Amino acid sequence: MVPYSNFLTNREIIRLVSIFVKKFEFNKVRLTGGEPFARKNIIELIEELTILKNEYQFELSVTTNGLLINGNFKNLKGHGLDRINFSLDSLNPKRYELITGKNQLHNVLDAIVDAENAGFSNIKINTVIIKNVNDDEIDDFIDYSNKTGRNIRFIEYMPFSNNGYDKVGFISSQELMTKISQYYELIPNNKNEESVAMDYRIKDSKALISFISPISDHFCGLCNRLRITAEGKLKLCLFSPNKTELELKDMLRNDYSDERIAESIIKALVEKDYAHPNIEELIKLKNNNIISVGG
Ligand code: SF4
Repeated sequence: MVPYSNFLTNREIIRLVSIFVKKFEFNKVRLTGGEPFARKNIIELIEELTILKNEYQFELSVTTNGLLINGNFKNLKGHGLDRINFSLDSLNPKRYELITGKNQLHNVLDAIVDAENAGFSNIKINTVIIKNVNDDEIDDFIDYSNKTGRNIRFIEYMPFSNNGYDKVGFISSQELMTKISQYYELIPNNKNEESVAMDYRIKDSKALISFISPISDHFCGLCNRLRITAEGKLKLCLFSPNKTELELKDMLRNDYSDERIAESIIKALVEKDYAHPNIEELIKLKNNNIISVGG
């Protein structure tokens, strides 16, 4: 069990975010996990980030499985959270339980409705389709999007050191699009050029479907994302090797000034690769545990 002292405190997270929004003009901050609401003082963290947001305009969002929010959506909205995305890989209660170990699909679906009722809009549902696991639910997800108007984003299955990756399960976005196009007409619907997603609407329906292709058609050349792990490591890329990680927590706890930390980040950025390694190399990686790195 990782001692709690290994994790960044709220104050340390606020300081790091303030360096990125002040010195590097970052305009989006996303809290992810594992599960961000598993963090004890997450509501206080969102409150404090909102104070910073009033000074430096940035969008504050979370990606969650929706199970630990306990109806706090109005509160979160009131505290300044801008957006919520949900991770949901099955609409079948039995399969959901198989994938997550929890018989709580209905709680997630209710949480999505509660989030909308609390005023969160443009909610996206992130779904990883894996062959022979949930690829028979594509129609159900399209039907769900048609009934609710919520955007389903099919994200390609990626190897992480703790997800038991089996490349047999991989389906590329192109394969998925071809499969879907046999039954539905996909109409391009890209509104946000910065987005890594290819957005479509389904003809004669309310369904909004997107495809995110980090493996088959990576968008690394456009990548402007950096991740800070819960233990305060700066990851230049989801798949960056240990040696390029920056120990931000140690700098904070050794009284480095904001300027000195910013200089270290700039030096580290030259190490950011133009593209992630190929799938064979990715599968060999040992340090990209999705729970600590975050999607
Ligand atoms: S560089 Fe890394 S983080 Fe950025 S898009 Fe590529 S794989 Fe993702």
